[in-house]
Amino acid sequence: MKFLYALIISVSLVQAQVDSIPSPKQILGYELGDRYTRHSSLERYLFALKDAARERMRLTSYGETYEGRALYTAFFSSPENLGRLDEIRQNIQKLSDPRSTPSPEAEAIIKNTPAIVWLSYGVHGNEASSMEAAMNVMYQLASRKDEEITSILKNLVVVIDPLLNPDGHERFVQYEATHSGKKPVTDKSAMEHNEDWPSGRTNHYYIDLNRDWAWLTQRETQGRIAAYRAWKPQVHVDYHEMGYNSSYFFFPAFKPINKNFPRNTMEWGDIFGKANAAAFDRRGWSYWSGELFDLFYPGYGDSWPSLNGAIGMTYEQAGGGVGVRVKRSDENILSLRDRLEHHTVTSITTLRATAEHRERRLRDFQQFFAEAIQEGKSGPVRSFIIDAGRDPSRAAKMISNLCAQGVEVSKTSKDFSASDLHTYFTKGSLTKKFGAGSYIISLDQPSKRLILSLMEQEPALSDTFFYDISTWSLPVAYGVDAYWTSHEISVASVPVRDRAEPPGGSVDQDATYAYLFRWDSNDAARGLVWLLQQDLRANVAMKEFTTSGGRQFPRGTIIVPVTGNPPGIHERIKELARQFHLTIFGTNSGYTERGINLGSDRAVRIRQPKIIVVTGPPVGTESFGAVWSMFDQQYGLDFVPMKLDQLRGADLHDYNVMIFPDDAGAGYRSVLDSTAVEKIKTWIAGGGTFTGIEGGAAFASTARIASVKIKEKKKSDESKKDTLGGKEKKLSDEELEKRMTVEERERKHRMQGIPGTMVRVKLDTSHPLGFGYDSAITVFKTSNTMFELSERGYNVGIYTKSPRMSGYMSAENERMLEETPYLIHEQRGAGSVILFADDPNFRLYWDGLNKLFLNSVLLMPGIKNVEMTAY
Ligand SMILES: [Zn+2]
Repeated sequence: MKFLYALIISVSLVQAQVDSIPSPKQILGYELGDRYTRHSSLERYLFALKDAARERMRLTSYGETYEGRALYTAFFSSPENLGRLDEIRQNIQKLSDPRSTPSPEAEAIIKNTPAIVWLSYGVHGNEASSMEAAMNVMYQLASRKDEEITSILKNLVVVIDPLLNPDGHERFVQYEATHSGKKPVTDKSAMEHNEDWPSGRTNHYYIDLNRDWAWLTQRETQGRIAAYRAWKPQVHVDYHEMGYNSSYFFFPAFKPINKNFPRNTMEWGDIFGKANAAAFDRRGWSYWSGELFDLFYPGYGDSWPSLNGAIGMTYEQAGGGVGVRVKRSDENILSLRDRLEHHTVTSITTLRATAEHRERRLRDFQQFFAEAIQEGKSGPVRSFIIDAGRDPSRAAKMISNLCAQGVEVSKTSKDFSASDLHTYFTKGSLTKKFGAGSYIISLDQPSKRLILSLMEQEPALSDTFFYDISTWSLPVAYGVDAYWTSHEISVASVPVRDRAEPPGGSVDQDATYAYLFRWDSNDAARGLVWLLQQDLRANVAMKEFTTSGGRQFPRGTIIVPVTGNPPGIHERIKELARQFHLTIFGTNSGYTERGINLGSDRAVRIRQPKIIVVTGPPVGTESFGAVWSMFDQQYGLDFVPMKLDQLRGADLHDYNVMIFPDDAGAGYRSVLDSTAVEKIKTWIAGGGTFTGIEGGAAFASTARIASVKIKEKKKSDESKKDTLGGKEKKLSDEELEKRMTVEERERKHRMQGIPGTMVRVKLDTSHPLGFGYDSAITVFKTSNTMFELSERGYNVGIYTKSPRMSGYMSAENERMLEETPYLIHEQRGAGSVILFADDPNFRLYWDGLNKLFLNSVLLMPGIKNVEMTAY
């Protein structure tokens, strides 16, 4: 009787739920898992749910993608909590800043404030079961009336971001919709399981948003970080998918672990790991943890939240990029329904586990910041000082990036001197004077752990296996002069609010002869693009000079002549200075005190670049995407993204620059036959400028577009990964491998990779490719591609002896890399071939190398001979 009564109750409950809260099926017209859901349908469900579940749900949009799709966060909690949502938000903010919240107040907050859990689905658009799971989780949170959900809603504010990357996701869903029939084909070779280029993983510009959390190069990330910071969750889960033959991965993570995390990061990983394991055990589902996925690189959706006081975790379901039913190698069918079910279970389980440990989690969250401030007061690094002099705009951009992540920065209003300063490039300490307008970052602030992780010279390693890159340092990547010291800096300064503004531009006088600006900043490049896009005329000084007023101008200075430009040039120059923060000098004479005259042949006319960037398979999506995003979003530079098969038929006379991005190892030769290669060679000989990046450079070498050779490993070298692989070497490798145990082989393969390592390069600053730089630069090496020194051309950038500056690289690889070229220029006929051994635009955060790449695009097309003697 009792049983029957319970049954009636539960049936009627289900009935009541169905009546009031719409299920995904009621809105979408199909069961979750039957097919992939479009963003527009997700929106329909969100709006329907919001209307029906007012008691438990709020919906907001935090931004828009490049393709115009809205980004959402849905908040779920009990009606009582939703009634005081803003108070909860403020309480959490107070916990995150123990400086202004004394312990008794913090303890009261911990006792009576729900914890915030933020669940992020689908940062990789083709890992698409994540978004389906998000709808399922939202439905459960909105409709279920049982003890589990009631407790979750009472103890937590659950923030759901159902789809972080709508543009990539839509690319994938469209692919699936157009490549699937009435009945799913389970054979793994069927087209529905094999996406076209580019996959839906990345965003509109083919940028990986799960590497962008700390660099904020993309609109989606910028919006999300702002929304995230308003709520500061205590738990963050990033939902992913991996190869369909795997099972399910949840935390704890694998080594190396970033040493900036507190000890309990791993303990919490264990708490959630055990809860998820129990939930999967009950259902007999497979899973794994503690392998492969590390917690080291700060730009992920697990590490970045973890550096901001949350327990940030990645969960991975098997199956990204495939159709709704695929046959695995173990003959089992993996269905979208299974996949979304697994993600749903870990979602609810993680929420329940947090609800059960609400107080402890909030206390540890508060402790995270209290300890961070304490560490910042007593640690070996107390402050960073940023000297904005080298490139004020780039320094301002880096500071704005840090501010966007919640870092407190101040700008000095007086000159000052500081001692015990350390730099990224030299050993020992020094004392130095700084001007007003320098930036100071004190570490006794809540963001100390994030700051140190982003700014430190070298992250400490607990192992040498990397799922991703092994080092990063914001100041080095931005090419900004920074110092750290064990002292607290006390000087008159004002806090930087939200973003740092570079100093305004100026024009000293209206000129009758020419206007001059130095090629020393990214803004100078931006300004030059602006001039060229308006068909204005500009020259570049190949040699330094001193004007009659005694002002010195280095090589690379841009000369805008008055004659030859339209009458309105004076107004345009003022606009140029204002818009791009440039200091521009007018001159009334072409005669100089020293160096070349402004009318010299060594002041070369800059050609309007007419650029092809090749795209489509086998071009590396991210290497192409970085160029695309950089040209389109950052520099406003017009170009033609051209599919490789169009290249064959195109009239190349219309273009003077051709860029081959990295091919991610796929090989350009597979799509370009000898006729196409000959066509490129003829175009170069006729005056074209070819730039090859990494794999694009290797292609130029193997196709004999350049004379430079790829460096092969010597017979005695143990290393294996190589682009060509000579016969002798192969034999020797085989002999070695024969004698190796499985474990030795695993280790050997790990040690051989160059995962992403900072290396020193000596740059020839008298070559136009080196204009605007010092002779010592730092670049980022992410592959084992290496070249021999060019015999016919200019080795403009050469890896130094012992080139490794920071990050992992085996001693063998370092030896092999030293004194090989990073940047090569060969003149071929009337044209140029320029090769970058590594991608200078990697993930778009190496702002410091932008100009090096742009020199090849903006300056080189007009330069027929780089040597004076050639005249
Ligand atoms: Zn992923």
